[in-house]
Amino acid sequence: MQQATVGGSQAGVWGSMALWKKILIGMVLGVIIGIAMGPDSAIFKPIGTLFINAIKMLIVPLVFCSLVVGVTSMQDTRKMGRIGLKSVVLYLGTTAVAISIGLAMATVFMPGSGLEMSVTEAAPAAKEAPTLVQTLLNMIPKNPIGALAAGNILQIIVFALGLGIALTLCGEKAQPAVKVFESLAEGMYKLTELVMKLAPYGVFGLMAWVAGKYGFDILMPLIKVIAVAYIGCLIHVLVFYTGLVSVLGRLNPVRYLKGLINPASVAFTTTSSSGTLPATIKASREELGVSKGISSFVLPLGATINMDGTALYQGVCALFIAQAFGIDLAFSDYLLIIMTSTLASIGTAGVPGAGLIMLSLVLTTVGLPIEGLAIVAGIDRILDMARTSVNVCGDLMVSVLVSKSENELDEAVYNAESSKKELETA
Ligand code: ASP
Repeated sequence: MQQATVGGSQAGVWGSMALWKKILIGMVLGVIIGIAMGPDSAIFKPIGTLFINAIKMLIVPLVFCSLVVGVTSMQDTRKMGRIGLKSVVLYLGTTAVAISIGLAMATVFMPGSGLEMSVTEAAPAAKEAPTLVQTLLNMIPKNPIGALAAGNILQIIVFALGLGIALTLCGEKAQPAVKVFESLAEGMYKLTELVMKLAPYGVFGLMAWVAGKYGFDILMPLIKVIAVAYIGCLIHVLVFYTGLVSVLGRLNPVRYLKGLINPASVAFTTTSSSGTLPATIKASREELGVSKGISSFVLPLGATINMDGTALYQGVCALFIAQAFGIDLAFSDYLLIIMTSTLASIGTAGVPGAGLIMLSLVLTTVGLPIEGLAIVAGIDRILDMARTSVNVCGDLMVSVLVSKSENELDEAVYNAESSKKELETA
């Protein structure tokens, strides 16, 4: 009887524990047991495979529905014309730069080199690199159902974007279809949440197997991935964003950085850019002097479609996994990663851990082993903290630039000392 009570309360503690903590525990236990058991720990691998298969199951419907909804939710973009266009161009352009920084950092520091991991599933054989023209032509699916069935992510993205735009253009008549996609997307988010409940166990199984096979060699690369991703994030904000603020906006970048402090710390701790939105909007108005009209349009749009930190992380992780599994990537693969991540960022929800699922999409597109996902999943929370902060800083940067270009930036507020801001905005 007593035992049952103790067991019950333990289940209660485990049940109410935050998912990221459980995943971290799964990873640490997996590493300890794997190192203790050595190669015998391969018996735990099926638990990991189950989790990986469940993630694979999500990719196609999740990407398709969430991208269609991502585009249809931009209806206002059309109404707001110029401002919408400016924001979308800045959002997507800076995302492409973010992922390039991630790729460059991982190429220079090679966090995954020397791991020499192998996959049970056949790694893609060195394929002949398609030309850029071929890659572009192949992006258009001749048969979208075929693309969905074959899981051709790039073609699915193109079709989803096209369908989303078309549904938006149809207006009222297409509302029932839009509603269907919205509710399907909700269902897929729910299913993702359920699958993620398996993550602690899946990560345990895969880490036990990996650590059993590679011993302590696995730890250093993980620390390196964290360091590389964090340095990349800092460069993106401190060099690239401040550069844009001073060159395009002709504004003092230090003021911009000061305005980031509150929302970035909320983002860092909550790992959700949607959850941070109220803090982001407040900071843009009260600290950075962005007009109400622009902040209430540009920032929610950014929290939905602008994920620079997530893209940067995907660049680092994709290369880490390629290096760990000894897979050489061609130049066209790099372009493919940039393109997929940039487009996929439109469909990434601003909630904790969404970037990890989207990483599986990038891996599948480039033909990298999805097993790599489990290795980074254990440290995902730490990476999520940095990437979410960057996502939010990017939204704020765009709101400042758009506001300035529309002559709607209150520079008195932007340049005021923090103590005077409240008076200025009162
Ligand atoms: N947590 C991130 C955000 O809310 C998304 C991600 O997981 O990359 O912005």
